[in-house]
Amino acid sequence: MSLFDDRRFAPEDRPPPPVPQRPTPAKMREAVQGCRACDLWEGATQAVMGEGARHAPLMLVGEQPGDREDIEGHPFVGPAGKVLDRGLEQAGIDHDRVYITNVVKHFRYRARGKRRIHQKPDRWQVSACLPWLEAEIAMVHPDALVCLGATAAQALLGSQVRIGRDRGRPMPSELAEHVTVTAHPSSILRAEDDRDRQEAMAQLVADLRNVAAWLSAR
Ligand code: SF4
Repeated sequence: MSLFDDRRFAPEDRPPPPVPQRPTPAKMREAVQGCRACDLWEGATQAVMGEGARHAPLMLVGEQPGDREDIEGHPFVGPAGKVLDRGLEQAGIDHDRVYITNVVKHFRYRARGKRRIHQKPDRWQVSACLPWLEAEIAMVHPDALVCLGATAAQALLGSQVRIGRDRGRPMPSELAEHVTVTAHPSSILRAEDDRDRQEAMAQLVADLRNVAAWLSAR
């Protein structure tokens, strides 16, 4: 029985994700490019695997790569990544202690003229992609795991999770010793005005500080 067996319902006519038997970051990065377990590879430039310290104590899990990440091939290098970097810095979390990834490895979007507008992945696409995350969790074996946003939180912890209600508090889960949820940094970029943006940022930092405090108390 694997971590997400109860949340899988990928169509059976799709090939399973070619997750290496003994995953290493390099093997995973190479193998994910050949994944056809859902249709998202068709419109994307490349798959984006997680990155960070191989045995990082903290894993952060977002939704999917965005426009910049799809082009550059690295997670959280676009505007939301910059917000996350600021949040980590303000929370006193060193980047060297973090592994950052997403539940879905290919960018889902719809084209509007020359722009590519982010689209939330469907549930079956999230489900089809979970074996990659499962392999990353087994490889990194983090002490703490933070779901960034509702897509990651609901994919990993169940559809009953609500960011507004559950953020910052420990969630029952076998994914890691300490599992929490917080807002996705892109939601801070979508705040209506400066005041809302500052408030949302302060909440993100507070949630990350709680995780930092848990890690340093171990
Ligand atoms: S999104 Fe995930 S499951 Fe779908 S093709 Fe890409 S790597 Fe495979």
